[in-house]
Amino acid sequence: MSVAPFPASRLGPTRLPSVGTTAFTVMSQLAQQHGAINLGQGFPDFNCDPHLQALLTEAMDAGHNQYAPMPGVPALRQAIRAKNARLYGHCYDADAEVTITAGATQAIMAAVLALVAPGDEVIVLEPVYDSYGPSIELAGGRIVRVPLEAARDYAPDWERVRAAITPRTRLIMLNFPHNPTGRCLAAADLRALEDIVAATGVLLLSDEVYEHIVFDGQPHRSLAGSPLLAAHTVLISSFGKTFHTTGWKVGTLCAPRALTAEIRKVHQFMVFAVNTPAQHAFATYLRDPLPYETLPAFYQAKRDLFVAGLRDTPFRVLPCPGTYFVLADYSAVSALPEAQFAQRMIVDWGVAVIPVSVFYDQPVDHRVVRFCFAKRDDTLRAALERLARVTT
Ligand code: PMP
Ligand code: GLN
Repeated sequence: MSVAPFPASRLGPTRLPSVGTTAFTVMSQLAQQHGAINLGQGFPDFNCDPHLQALLTEAMDAGHNQYAPMPGVPALRQAIRAKNARLYGHCYDADAEVTITAGATQAIMAAVLALVAPGDEVIVLEPVYDSYGPSIELAGGRIVRVPLEAARDYAPDWERVRAAITPRTRLIMLNFPHNPTGRCLAAADLRALEDIVAATGVLLLSDEVYEHIVFDGQPHRSLAGSPLLAAHTVLISSFGKTFHTTGWKVGTLCAPRALTAEIRKVHQFMVFAVNTPAQHAFATYLRDPLPYETLPAFYQAKRDLFVAGLRDTPFRVLPCPGTYFVLADYSAVSALPEAQFAQRMIVDWGVAVIPVSVFYDQPVDHRVVRFCFAKRDDTLRAALERLARVTT
C-alpha cells in the first residue's frame, strides 16, 4: 500500500526560511567549497583562553555533569548580577531576574514567545539580525520595520520609531552595538528612548551581545544603565562573543521579575536547563574582569589592521565604532547586486563576506558587504593580500 506524503503545507511554520538557507550558513559552506578565507559568518578563528578551557574540564572533573537548575547555576547568576551592577549600575536580583540561556538566539526566542501574543506588533530596526523576524513570526506577531539609514551612519531615528508605535505595539527590539553596522548608542539615544518609554510604556528587548566590543574609548551604553529603561527591558547577552566561545552556546537574560517569570515559563520547556559545566566555568572565569575589560583593545587592534588594509583597496570603508564587523561599499568595484557580488568575491578573490541585503526584508541593493574581523592577524593579512587584487 502506498502512503501519500504528508502535505508540506500542513507541516508547521512554513513562513520561516528553509533549513540551511540562512545567509551565514550558505556563505560559510560556499567559502569552504571554494577554499575562500571566511570573513562572512561571525565567529573567531582563534581559540578561547586556555584557562577558560581548563575551568570547563575542572567543572566536569568535579562532577558538574547533570542538569543545572532551570534558571541557571546560582554562582553564574550571581556573577552576572555583580557584573551588571558594577558596569551599568543596575542591580538585578540573581534569583528572580537573571536567567542563563542556551546563547542569545534562544534567549531572544524565549522572550518573544513569552511576551508577544498573536496580532501584537513588534518594532525592529532594519537592517535586522536574522533571528528576530522568525521569532516574531512564531509568536504570531506582526513585524514593523523602521529603517536605519546609511545616510545617517545608521543612527536610529527615534521620531520614526515613535511614529511606528500604535496601541498594538508590544515590543521594540534593539541591538547595539549593532550587527551588521557596528552602530553604538549615544547618551542622546538613551534619553530619546526614555521619552518614548515614559510616553508609551512599551517593552524593550535589548540584544547587547557585543557589549564588550566597543572602540575608540567610548563606553557601551547599556539600557540597564537607565532605571526607567531597565524597568521595561529584557537585556540579553552572550558569552560566545565576549569569551570567543560561540560553540558553547551560553548566554544571559536579565529582566524585571514579572517579565522574567513569564519568559521562564517558555524557557523551562524550550531547553529546561543549560549546559552545566560551562556555567560553572564561566562563573569562575568571571571573577577576573580583565578578559572582558581588555576585549575592546584586542578587537580594536584587529579593526585597525583590517581597516587600514581595506583602505588600500577600492572598497570604501564605513565607520566601525563597535562589534567585530565592518561594512564596506563596493560600488567603485562592481555594479553587481550584493548577493551576486558576494559570490564573485568567493570565486574570484577567495574571500567570503555577507551581503548586507540579507538583513532586509525587501530586496535592497546598497552595494555594501559585511566583513568579520574576529580572525587571527595572519588570516586578516592573507585576506587583505587577496583583496589587494581587486581593481576598479
Ligand atoms: N544577536 C546578534 C546581534 C548576533 O550577532 C548574534 C550572533 N552572532 C546573536 C544574537 C546570537 O548569539 P548566540 O550565538 O549566543 O546565540
Ligand atoms: N551572528 C553571527 C553573524 O552575524 C552568525 C550566527 C549564525 O550563523 N546564526 O554572523
